[in-house]
Amino acid sequence: LANQPGTLWVDGNFVPWPEAKLHVLSHSLHFAGSVFEGIRVYGGRAFALHQHLERLAASAEMLGYRLPWTVDVLEAACHALLARQELVEGYIRPIAWRGSQSVSVPAAACRVHVAIAAFPWPSYYGEEQRRRGLRLAVARWKRPSPETAPTASKTAGLYTIATMARDEANAAGLDDALMLDWRGLLAEATGANLFLVVDGALHTPLPDCFLDGITRRTVIGLARARGLEVVERRMAPGELARAQGAFLTGTAVEIMPVAAIGERELDPAHRLIGMLAGDYAALVRGEGPAPTP
Ligand code: PMP
Repeated sequence: LANQPGTLWVDGNFVPWPEAKLHVLSHSLHFAGSVFEGIRVYGGRAFALHQHLERLAASAEMLGYRLPWTVDVLEAACHALLARQELVEGYIRPIAWRGSQSVSVPAAACRVHVAIAAFPWPSYYGEEQRRRGLRLAVARWKRPSPETAPTASKTAGLYTIATMARDEANAAGLDDALMLDWRGLLAEATGANLFLVVDGALHTPLPDCFLDGITRRTVIGLARARGLEVVERRMAPGELARAQGAFLTGTAVEIMPVAAIGERELDPAHRLIGMLAGDYAALVRGEGPAPTP
């Protein structure tokens, strides 16, 4: 990804893509204190851009630092970058990190940097995978308790176990991993939230130790607008036996049907999943009614 034509926004300047480098002694490279976002661009419009940038600022504050730019400045930077990159269908990745003023644990001396990349990324999974649904392993790594880690922050440190769980699942021939939480309850996939379809209603784990995704909240709004019951609650893995369908939600994966979680087979073509995927596609392209998340 490092050598491409184009431009990135780095600390207030537009920089040629290959020149956007950071020093190897950056604090966040050693101690995983970066925070980032992923935003999708549909027909040239960034969906929920403001919400994502507010979450970026909140993620940094949970780690004890402030972004040196306001959300409004970052939003204007994203718009300018989309225009420069002439991006129509793609993805925006803003990231903030602590610089190279110290490589010991205390971070107060470190300067905070922000960069934004925008690049084409039409879809995460192909049409075929979307049709047959994802097969998920059950990860051996557990989402930590909020007393162990800043679990509401979209910070790099929390992705160490996500990457391990995902790579282990892929090496076993599966698409992704479902992660349980520290109590052994259903949590989320490695980069997306989980919904179960149970007797015509949606059930989704309470996000009390993992990211309450913007797509998750959007889908809850869309489902309620359709008159569906949505239940947010703590769920044990044994409850998968009651589900007829399941799907993942996330900016990158959008709404992705699940065909299996561990031993449990599910219907990836469940009618409600197709309906919500259609509503979501219309909304992000500005064609549907706005839900109230
Ligand atoms: N959980 C994790 C761990 C994620 O990385 C993501 C993607 N940002 C999500 C959930 C879904 O969040 P969103 O819908 O805001 O993209």
